[in-house]
This record gives sequence, C-alpha cells and structure tokens, in this order.
Amino acid sequence: MPPSNPARPLENKLAIVTGASRGIGAAIAENLASRGANLIINYTSASSTDLANDLASRLAQEYNIKASHVQADIGTPEGVQKLIEFAKQAAASNSSKFQIDIIINNAGIADNAPLPQITTAQFENTYRVNVLGPLLLVQAAQPYLPQDRSGRIINISSVSSSCGFVGQSVYGGTKAAIEAMTRTWSRELAENCTVNAVNPGPVEGPMYASNSPEFLENIEGWIKHTPLMKSREGDEPQDPVMPAGTRGATTKEIAGVVGMLCGKDAKWITGQVVCANGGMVMLH
Ligand code: NAP
Repeated sequence: MPPSNPARPLENKLAIVTGASRGIGAAIAENLASRGANLIINYTSASSTDLANDLASRLAQEYNIKASHVQADIGTPEGVQKLIEFAKQAAASNSSKFQIDIIINNAGIADNAPLPQITTAQFENTYRVNVLGPLLLVQAAQPYLPQDRSGRIINISSVSSSCGFVGQSVYGGTKAAIEAMTRTWSRELAENCTVNAVNPGPVEGPMYASNSPEFLENIEGWIKHTPLMKSREGDEPQDPVMPAGTRGATTKEIAGVVGMLCGKDAKWITGQVVCANGGMVMLH
C-alpha cells in the first residue's frame, strides 16, 4: 500500500538513533524526521541532555513527528534495557503493537594510540561502546522488529575499518567488527529487516578534529586522492584540520546516504558496506 503522503515515506515508523545528541547522529535524526519518522534520540552524557532535549523539541515541531530523548549508555545491558523500555513507553499511545522499524547504530568513540601505548582499558572501552553496544541493542530489539522485511538497521562504520590508518589498531578493529556483524545480521534477520553499514571518511566536527597532528599528516595523501574531497567554490568553511584545498563530509551528506538506505527503494540492499566517503575507499 503506498504511504498516505509520498513526501513522508517513513510516516508512523519508529526509529531509534543512538548517539544522536550531536554530530552525525543528530543529522541522521533530522533526515529521518524530515521523512516523517518518529524518533527516539539517544545519548549518554548528562551534559548533552539540553542538546538532546532541544533537538527533540525542534524536530517534533518542524516536521510534525513524535520525538523523545533518553540518556542511556548503549555499551551496557542496563543502558540498552533502559532505552528499549523508554521506547515502549514513548510509543504506548499508539494503538498498534510495539514495533521498532529503524535502528541506527551511530554512537561511537575513537581513542587513537600507537601500538606501544594501547591499554587494556582503552581497548575494552572502545569495543564496549562501538561493538558490544550495537550487538546488545539489536539483540534486545529483535523481538520488536517487523516481520515483513520492512525494517532497517544501519550501522555506522568508518573507512578506518579498511585503510589501516596509523594509531587506529583499536578503533579500526571495532569498525571492522561492526561490518562483520552487519553481514551476519543480514542473514539472521532477513525476514525482519535489511542490515547495512555506512563508512564515512573525515566528517566535520569534534571527533575528526580531535585527531593528533601525526594522524592528520598520515591521512593527508588519502584525502588528496579522494575524488570528491577537492574543495569547490561555494563549499562551506572547513575544519582547519583538513588540508588546504580539500573538504571533509558534512554531517548532512552522511545522513543523506543513511536516509536513502532507510527508504523502500533500498529494500534489495542488505549485508553491504555502503561507501559514503567521497570515494576515499572503493570497495568491490
Ligand atoms: P561525536 O560528535 O563524538 O558524537 C558521538 C555521539 O555518540 C554523541 O551523541 C555521544 O553522546 C554518543 N555516545 C558516545 N558514547 C555513547 C554511549 N556509550 N552510549 C550512547 N551514546 C554514546 O561523533 P560523530 O563524529 O558524530 O560520529 C558518529 C559515528 O560516526 C561514530 O560511530 C563514529 O565512529 C563514526 N564516524 C565518524 C567520523 C568522523 O570523522 N567524525 C568518520 C567515520 C565514522 P554524548 O553527547 O552524550 O556524549
């Protein structure tokens, strides 16, 4: 049956976006809201509560959707349980049974270090948030996924999974792990949803800007050989960490690819890593 409003193809769908208080997650939340999806906006730090609150209020008003926010650490079973219970409560007024249509596993952390400086605590924390978190969330959400293949899970990976950047033994490993889980989930959840990963390269914002001068120097050659990263007249001002004459992605550009994968036309794509990096890596 066609959606009642073709301009709002995600109308009445419920989307959970982790790490949506800011950055790429906030842009994804806005993209999905603009297509009519109702949102659960997740974040973890108390200091981000106002940001999440403002975002939820603005999106609800601007796009005429339901949006609520929940502080929960997705890297713990308790945090994920809190998130799911919150989503159930938020959807309680709906007459239909509780269903999670879209999950965007976006929350992530990066803590680069060369081999001799990597600590067990750093390894465990990064894998806890970037790998265990999405696993726990998908596990807890599984009973509530659609039964007609209309669901969508998008995991936010990174070009770091495949480029072997210096200092990213741990972060790159977590992103390779989420791509591996994407392929397994695409089979195990085939009757429920498509499951894909999206792998940005450098994106505007604090995560990329926090990289060390050594990392930024090492990645320069990659950036200069990336087809779409040469700046054009009219481009928005760039993070000063980008090499002269180049630009990273805007959060909106990444959100556009994620939004595209959430639509009905993407129903035949599953188990893929969809490149959203201006051609920085060309997977085959
Ligand atoms: P960001 O600006 O640092 O935002 C991270 C978000 O994740 C925040 O909303 C943060 O919440 C949330 N978060 C962190 N740990 C969490 C936890 N344990 N539970 C729940 N939420 C948590 O990051 P970003 O640049 O937007 O990156 C988003 C995703 O894209 C990450 O997976 C990252 O690895 C990936 N990525 C980023 C780039 C890049 O250049 N930025 C490139 C490739 C891939 P609080 O606000 O509460 O801290």
